[in-house]
Amino acid sequence: MSEPELDIQNLKISFSTPRGKLTAVNGISFQLNQGEALALVGESGCGKTVSALSILRLLPEPPAEISSGKILFSGQNLLSLNAKTLQDLRGRSIAMVFQDPMTSLNPVLTIGEQMAETLLRHTTMTRQEALQKSADLLSRVDLPSPKEKLKQYPHQLSGGMRQRVMIAMALTCSPRILIADEPTTALDVLIQAQILELLESLKKETGMSMLIITHDLGVVAEIAQRVLIMYAGEIVESGPAHALLDNPLHPYTRGLIASVPKLGALKKKGARLEEIPGTVPSLDQRPSGCAFHPRCAWAIEKCKTQKPQLREAEGERQWSCHLEPGSL
Ligand code: SF4
Repeated sequence: MSEPELDIQNLKISFSTPRGKLTAVNGISFQLNQGEALALVGESGCGKTVSALSILRLLPEPPAEISSGKILFSGQNLLSLNAKTLQDLRGRSIAMVFQDPMTSLNPVLTIGEQMAETLLRHTTMTRQEALQKSADLLSRVDLPSPKEKLKQYPHQLSGGMRQRVMIAMALTCSPRILIADEPTTALDVLIQAQILELLESLKKETGMSMLIITHDLGVVAEIAQRVLIMYAGEIVESGPAHALLDNPLHPYTRGLIASVPKLGALKKKGARLEEIPGTVPSLDQRPSGCAFHPRCAWAIEKCKTQKPQLREAEGERQWSCHLEPGSL
């Protein structure tokens, strides 16, 4: 097998707060393979966005601190690069698309000015060439009348169009990795489906790898080949997407799947949507033992005191739970 595009080893991230140093990501390891779509899934506060932002060193340091681990890209540890090298790498080799394009786009610059700026920074193109390339990129993400769109401001476009602009901007320098943080959360259902389809076809066309951060298992089923489930700053289950969604091994994954609304089931009289009781623990209140135990319907006595280790299961799967597979 070829080298992974991204190899994250034992990454630990903490934040300095008035209540002391709090751990947000506790020693996660994973690999993103070439041309793969990998989903990092969990509820808000699980550490998935913090992990993704750390790859491009976009967390403010301090208060954030990457206290241990490696982020290897093309054999280079991104954690040891200087600010200038990192700046060159952002957008050129690894690009990011955020949840809300309105907060990522500059409201006082036209789409054309913003897109051309990236090209002028990373290439030797003239302004005219950069604008032409920007128009080409907008047609690539299926935006109609791309030349007109270049002259417009973000507020003149719909939410779906703005997200297409963000994806086009991310593709400006043909990155090898695209990190998409909740790329469809702010969009309505029909536009969500179109954006996922677009990401899927761009991945096939360009061969880039994608790391998709999401809380939405519908997005996972649609686009991901492999999934990492995160809870309280740790990976609690991982595996091929369809195997994991069909047969979750970890109670948290099972809870996430059970809480997805199913149209037919909800029509039945008295049907109720299942939910995972409670909420993700805050950074300063991580439970002892298995961090999921206060919310877990299968918890046994030792879950309160003993932390389960990540174990291997058949079919390239991993999970961390004291229960054996098939117990749920
Ligand atoms: Fe639930 Fe215990 Fe498994 Fe944690 S280790 S998920 S508390 S059964």
